[in-house]
Amino acid sequence: MKTVALIVAAGRGTRAGGGLPKQYRAVGGEPVLRRTIRALLASPLVDGALTVIHPDDVALYAAAAPEDPRLLPPVHGGAERALSVLAGLEALAEAAPDLVLIHDAARPFVSPRVIADVVEALGSHDGALAAIPIVDALRREEGGLCGAPVPREGVWRAQTPQGFRFPAILAAHRANPDPKAADDAEIARAAGLSVRLVESEAENFKITAPRDFERAERQAAMREIRVGQGYDVHAFAPGGEVTLCGVSIPFDKALSGHSDADVAMHALTDAIFGAIAEGDIGRWFPPSDPQWKGADSAIFLRKAMERLAARGARLTNADVTIVCERPKITPHAPAMIARLAEIMDVEPGRISVKATTSERLGFTGREEGIAALALATVSI
Ligand code: MG
Repeated sequence: MKTVALIVAAGRGTRAGGGLPKQYRAVGGEPVLRRTIRALLASPLVDGALTVIHPDDVALYAAAAPEDPRLLPPVHGGAERALSVLAGLEALAEAAPDLVLIHDAARPFVSPRVIADVVEALGSHDGALAAIPIVDALRREEGGLCGAPVPREGVWRAQTPQGFRFPAILAAHRANPDPKAADDAEIARAAGLSVRLVESEAENFKITAPRDFERAERQAAMREIRVGQGYDVHAFAPGGEVTLCGVSIPFDKALSGHSDADVAMHALTDAIFGAIAEGDIGRWFPPSDPQWKGADSAIFLRKAMERLAARGARLTNADVTIVCERPKITPHAPAMIARLAEIMDVEPGRISVKATTSERLGFTGREEGIAALALATVSI
């Protein structure tokens, strides 16, 4: 099952003010469109993304798009939303995904939960529309005065993503006689497709008016804190040095392992993967793969930081504890912190490296190997 997100970003978005089309304006220091693309690709159910842009926005798009191999080259949109969507669907026709999730560029706060519910609904329906049931009383305006109530029972506010089985929505758009159709659900319904309503979240609002940017800034500032832990052990082997946190220390033994056996850096790397729930070193760098033999473990740590950045997350702090009787770690701790900070591209003040012995107890006490523990805190 292949699912592609189709992001509609061809509008001029001038109602929101600020000079630039709203999808290219920054929220929390990042273009809205980049946040939107990232939010969609953050779902494990989304395999790729395609953006439909205005032909005048090629440079703006290039500056805003995140680096991600799952992001397809953009296509140019038409004068109406429906024409832009059609252009995007046609661009996907050859790849023929199973499902397409059509999404507004100006909804950067779509959550993995909403995406999952839309995809799930497509198991039983041709289409699925993220929407919110209306709870406020509705009133018709009569010359600036409060007029008659409008029944709200069964009335929902439509959002995006609007998900569809790809061949069905492509056929519906190709046959659509009305380029001014309100949205894809409308085009789907006109073609006789069944579109399921899926309850969405208020956070998935569309940035439209200037004050929506204030709300978006507040939402972008609300970050979640997550913690990951890592633990690793490597046995001693004959040799003349050990590598810990990227610093080699002359010693009367070495550590054995497939890579450079940097037990401390492995624990830290696993802590970061853990914090973003992306497995561990073994998942990204299988030990069965000979290319990692003797590898510099910085490769692993950089990969974890790359995944962190791809999720829009930041490392808040990391704390590494090395457990061994020998060698003495403390004299090397400042160099280890500096090296980790360099690899991770964070301030050294966010990283701690400390050591303890195990009072001659257990395998570390018998000097059979070194253990390391790490905690990483990230904001996401
Ligand atoms: Mg290891």
